[in-house]
Amino acid sequence: MRKAKDNANVPALYYRPLITTCPRCGAPLYRRCIMWRKYVITLQGRWRIFSLGYSCSRAKCTQANVIHRSLDAEQLTPKGSSFGFDLFAQVGWWRFWDHRTLDEIATLLQAKHLPVSRRQILNLIGDFLALLRAAQPAKIEAQRAYFQRHGMIISIDGMEPEQGNEMLFVVREAHLSLTLVGETLYSRRADLISRRLLEPVKALGFRIRGVISDADQNIRRAVTATLPGRPHQACQVHCLCAAGKPIFEADRALKTDLRRDIRAKLRPISRTLSQSAPDDSQRTVLVDYAEALRDVLRADGVSPFDLSGLQLYNELDRLEASLSRCQKKGGIHFWRHC
Ligand SMILES: [Zn+2]
Repeated sequence: MRKAKDNANVPALYYRPLITTCPRCGAPLYRRCIMWRKYVITLQGRWRIFSLGYSCSRAKCTQANVIHRSLDAEQLTPKGSSFGFDLFAQVGWWRFWDHRTLDEIATLLQAKHLPVSRRQILNLIGDFLALLRAAQPAKIEAQRAYFQRHGMIISIDGMEPEQGNEMLFVVREAHLSLTLVGETLYSRRADLISRRLLEPVKALGFRIRGVISDADQNIRRAVTATLPGRPHQACQVHCLCAAGKPIFEADRALKTDLRRDIRAKLRPISRTLSQSAPDDSQRTVLVDYAEALRDVLRADGVSPFDLSGLQLYNELDRLEASLSRCQKKGGIHFWRHC
């Protein structure tokens, strides 16, 4: 069942026009009516907004019937929506720039005490994309002279926020980092990529000097079909990640082996340590070593360059060197037979 919102403690905000006198005759304006009132959720909270209409107080003025209203109130929300533009922008930013999931966005909004449901977040994301698309022609138009002179190098990238669901494709001009097309596609078929992503860019009418994308076969086919003969380069970041993959996998296997061996050896040592006398001076040192070892085993890597298996190997080397120094100094007999 739908729960009614509690409107008892929602603060009211009144918006008036900026001018206080009639622009025609200079007589003071008087409050004539309430243009509209509605509950609005902005990043600052939930408000009851009143937009007040004002008119010239001189009955004989030719503009006596004109109603002046607040521009700020009109710019607060899109027409017919009860969410502020700031909320649209924030949710869109979280989704597409911070790559947050729906659940994460819901948690972030909850932390701000904003009553927005999951369904409403989805609508906000959809409306945000529509707003973004509406603003794009003006941005592209502003760069017309540049594009006419230098042409465009376009990059195509597909993001799949949730596996198996729709994909968000973004086509950018690589030099200016300007988004040309952003589309949600339900399939990565080549003809769909051609029609929805490449044709609109081609229709802009600028010379396309080259294309950058990952090695995805569908994108390659679409580019060959729509932009025949254009140089198409594989994205270097994608290449590095792909080239590093076998090494990363081998490193992961090394780490798994090392972890399994060390943990098997560490277990009986930990048991012996826990049974030794608490006032044993060697015990404190060895407990520290065991803790350091456990810590080293927990480390994780990031593809393609952060190789945790090699790191683990180096750390174990350092621990071994440190232990042998210790043995030479004080002779930890207890450790030696482990
Ligand atoms: Zn007037």
